[in-house]
Amino acid sequence: IQKALIMDEVAMNRALTRIAHEIIERNKGIKDVVLVGIQTRGVPLAQRLAKKIQQYEGQEIPVGVLDITLYRDDLSSQPEQPVINGTNIPFDVNGKIVVMVDDVLFTGRTARAAMDALIDLGRPKAIQLAVLIDRGHRELPIRADYVGKNVPTSKSEKVYVYVAEVDGMNKVIIAEP
Ligand code: 5GP
Ligand code: MG
Repeated sequence: IQKALIMDEVAMNRALTRIAHEIIERNKGIKDVVLVGIQTRGVPLAQRLAKKIQQYEGQEIPVGVLDITLYRDDLSSQPEQPVINGTNIPFDVNGKIVVMVDDVLFTGRTARAAMDALIDLGRPKAIQLAVLIDRGHRELPIRADYVGKNVPTSKSEKVYVYVAEVDGMNKVIIAEP
């Protein structure tokens, strides 16, 4: 299999530093801004963004968790659907600017499911999306507000995101599985 390194540890850290600054700039500070990490790797990425934003703004920023995974009913020929497994959002989303954080944006179906879950909890002032990698192939009218790197992929390629908190290393690779 052909593999290509998309981001090393330094590039990943620089992208997160830029996104942290962009979140502050776009929202004219961090008043009412909260972060929500999506399931496995979006969560440590959200925590890293929160840490950087706290350093720059001198103020804590809440981080919640949405657990959404792709699920395929073995008995059906339907493609995988994102399903909500659980949420841990220990703050009020009403009137908040909720920045969803995920590792990879692909069809947009996970982001859509995440928005549904957030809207069930209240009425955010705005919902924004931050992703480390946008690999294209959207199937819904969804775009990210903050992108670490746009990586054109074929549908059969896969982006492998490794984050130290989960995988013991920081890098992004693209490969044909
Ligand atoms: P979507 O719902 O936009 O089709 O896919 C996004 C979700 O699936 C994200 O939560 C992401 O973690 C996962 N995903 C989709 N494609 C890839 C990929 O190529 N690599 C990785 N690491 N995750 C992916
Ligand atoms: Mg995911």
